[in-house]
Amino acid sequence: MKYDYLVVGSGLYGAVFAHEAKKSGKSVLVVDKRPNIAGNVYTEKTEGIHVHKYGAHIFHTNNKKVWEYITQFAEFNRFTNSPVANYRGELYSLPFNMYTFNKMWGVVTPEEAEAKIEEQRKEAGITTPKNLEEQAISLVGRDIYEKLIRGYTEKQWGRDCKDLPAFIIKRLPVRLTFDNNYFNALYQGIPVGGYTKMVANLLDGIEVRLNTDYLEQKTELDALADKVVYTGPIDAYFAYKLGTLEYRSVRFETETLDKPNFQGNAAVNYTDRETPWTRIIEHKWFEFGKDENGNDLPKTVISREYSSEWKPGDEPYYPVNDEKNGALYAEYKKLADAETKVIFGGRLGEYKYYDMDAVIASALEMCEREL
Ligand code: FAD
Ligand code: UDP
Repeated sequence: MKYDYLVVGSGLYGAVFAHEAKKSGKSVLVVDKRPNIAGNVYTEKTEGIHVHKYGAHIFHTNNKKVWEYITQFAEFNRFTNSPVANYRGELYSLPFNMYTFNKMWGVVTPEEAEAKIEEQRKEAGITTPKNLEEQAISLVGRDIYEKLIRGYTEKQWGRDCKDLPAFIIKRLPVRLTFDNNYFNALYQGIPVGGYTKMVANLLDGIEVRLNTDYLEQKTELDALADKVVYTGPIDAYFAYKLGTLEYRSVRFETETLDKPNFQGNAAVNYTDRETPWTRIIEHKWFEFGKDENGNDLPKTVISREYSSEWKPGDEPYYPVNDEKNGALYAEYKKLADAETKVIFGGRLGEYKYYDMDAVIASALEMCEREL
């Protein structure tokens, strides 16, 4: 065998594994079917702006070990995510905080806000939330659910809020303060110079073959390595023989505008049901509208995100972690466990709604066991 490991996918999971394997003296080949490294965190420079080509990515974590690990490969800026919600022209602060409650109800103090939420919670009569709708109403009340959650969620997931698991919404903070930070995280930021550079640093000195679909050349590629680390979709690996897992896909419509400022914020979510996109990202604000020398950038690049149900041929982005898919995944997992030469990892390999920090943590745990 020419290599100890063949790593399928140059996203964060694959890049961390490949880096650690090389560090332990193993030989590694990385393949990716895309024309670029970095998987979904790939950024590309346009008009001096690092454009997040596969969706906006804000690094945030409470895991000190992961933070210390990843900052070896990039310096991070102090970007803090504070999205704005646009509901039919009314603007609200996200996460749900005192600015949101004041705009929604005119309340001024935390006690008043809490009383309002409690009143709406009581009216709804929910004791143990069984789905996303019930979870949302018991967290923030019906008004916020109707204006800021329902339309956005149904567009993003293509499903009724009553048919979605409660956990999806639990990650959103609800604060009785004026803290506009969307994340409850000790560490947060955007890698200076873009995510692609960070992943290139992880892959430094490692052979990478792009435009190479592992599943199309499986026999030849398997013959090159003792073991495979597979970070593509688990159902695709098994040729969908038990059926297809559901994913949500996203279409990005990106344009360069000849003006310095389109919306004044990195992310604006369109939370009504009628606007066809879920959100608009204005990439320059991830880096405060400046180039690397601190100069203001004259143009701007925006991306509208349209969410759709995944079908073969699309990019799978979000696993739909509901009961039905969980049960099918468990069957695929049994097949995966029986493959002695293959490790399945990452968001698609493990069919898990992982954030970047969780993917890094999971790859590092695998490295500890494997290497
Ligand atoms: P991926 O990045 O998907 O990498 C898998 C790679 O495998 C891809 O490059 C793919 O081309 C390749 N591949 C697949 N099949 C094959 C094959 N057959 N042959 C060869 N190569 C193959 N997380 C955060 O922490 N903060 C955020 O703000 C955030 N925003 C997000 C926004 C969007 C729109 C999405 C979809 C995700 C977001 N995430 C965010 C999650 C983050 O993208 C993931 O946690 C992380 O990128 C997953 O890394 P991965 O290596 O598992 O997968
Ligand atoms: N959400 C919402 N309104 C918003 C933003 C988020 O209802 O303006 C809900 C939606 O259901 C989404 C979930 O909160 O799926 C989690 O949002 P987050 O921004 O964490 O999702 P991401 O796109 O980062 O995975």
